[in-house]
Amino acid sequence: MIRLALHGGAGELDDGADTREQRAALQRIAAEGLQMLRHGGSSLDVVERMVIRLEECPLFNAGVGGVLNRDGLPELDAAIMDGRDRACGAVAGVSHSKSPVRLARAVMERSPHVMFMGAGADALNAELGLDVVAPDYFITDLRRRQLRKAQTHQVIVLDHDSAYDDPPPAAGGGFGTVGAVALDAHGHLAAATSTGGLTNKHPGRIGDTPVIGAGTFADDRSAAISCTGTGEAFIRAGFGFDVDAQMHYAGAALADACARSLERVAAYGGRGGCIAIDRDGRIALPFNSRAMFRAWIGDDGEIRVAVGAN
Ligand code: ASP
Repeated sequence: MIRLALHGGAGELDDGADTREQRAALQRIAAEGLQMLRHGGSSLDVVERMVIRLEECPLFNAGVGGVLNRDGLPELDAAIMDGRDRACGAVAGVSHSKSPVRLARAVMERSPHVMFMGAGADALNAELGLDVVAPDYFITDLRRRQLRKAQTHQVIVLDHDSAYDDPPPAAGGGFGTVGAVALDAHGHLAAATSTGGLTNKHPGRIGDTPVIGAGTFADDRSAAISCTGTGEAFIRAGFGFDVDAQMHYAGAALADACARSLERVAAYGGRGGCIAIDRDGRIALPFNSRAMFRAWIGDDGEIRVAVGAN
């Protein structure tokens, strides 16, 4: 049994927004993941590859096209987790590491640590021989415009809250945080997430994405989970660990556990959603915002892509 789910972020997208480019990108990237899984690829390799592809795509808020902080700079967060033994790696606030998720995997596999931040994380990226870039590599015109608009309105925004976007986000490209969860043919789960965070965020602000057990989580005994939305509320909910605890200690079903954890996120004033796969291959894709870009492959092996209700 193989399963895969991807997300390209959650937010308050207008009903009429043109999402064709994002849908096509999710479809294309999911197709590559499906091939990898069919050829026996590990869930860890697949989620890393999916997130690298999404980081490379300027249509999403991760890697190239990541949103900008108050000073007009990208500060990127990413994490990856292996469901076999909860091995994990995370980086926060990097701006010179070409692929934050690849660096997160290197933290997991090539350092004795779990989490690196800022300049030290970028230095590790270089020391490990991973690709180094100037911050400009990540910056697009759309994100510059979004930052100006957010600063005019004096707000800090989820990357596709379209009220603050000019032009509307889907027309100009530029959508959400990205993530992937997978179950491979060997029965192992993995999760990865990457983001630029929030537009106009204070320099140094870190969201839920690189916080293991909040925005990113995987354990073969329960589920693989990648979140998107108001990071602070997902951290307060301890989203990944909360879903795991409900499943592990109370025998909850994946969909019920995710729904309850999302209620906690809402109670803390947060919006967003998650993609999740359990060890039996069940998939849950709940969100409490108007839209969550997502693609998934269920029992019939077909790739499905949806944004709002469909
Ligand atoms: N969760 C991300 C953060 O708070 C943002 C997002 O998913 O759009 O950094």
